[in-house]
Amino acid sequence: MTNHAAVPPQVAELSAALFQPRPMRRGTVNERRMKCGQANCACQRDPKARHGPYYMLTQAAGGKTRSRYVGADQVPVLRRQIEAGREFRQQVEVYWDACEHWADAELEAAEAAEAAEKKGSRRALGKRSGKSSRRS
Ligand SMILES: [Zn+2]
Repeated sequence: MTNHAAVPPQVAELSAALFQPRPMRRGTVNERRMKCGQANCACQRDPKARHGPYYMLTQAAGGKTRSRYVGADQVPVLRRQIEAGREFRQQVEVYWDACEHWADAELEAAEAAEAAEKKGSRRALGKRSGKSSRRS
């Protein structure tokens, strides 16, 4: 019998910000410089003569880390997508906090109603122990 109709303005606002679809991804783009296989190439001795830069996109998927080469021209787009993903994760955290705050208020209201019903026989539920569970 809970009424969720009254969404707190902060939650409504955050939720609207959260669900603005945009291309984004997790992972990182790294620059690499490589040695080639030729024994007499300068890259074998001089780190500055290594070939590249080459760019690798590294992503964790299903417990595995995958890397692949991407073109230099793709790097700015990838960085923007990764940045968008990072912002999204932050927004999710803020959204979680706001929803948990809301959940606390709901819990306290239910507790207060119960206490009022029992008239005086108060159940002292300990104060919440802060937000501990982190999800990602
Ligand atoms: Zn070389």
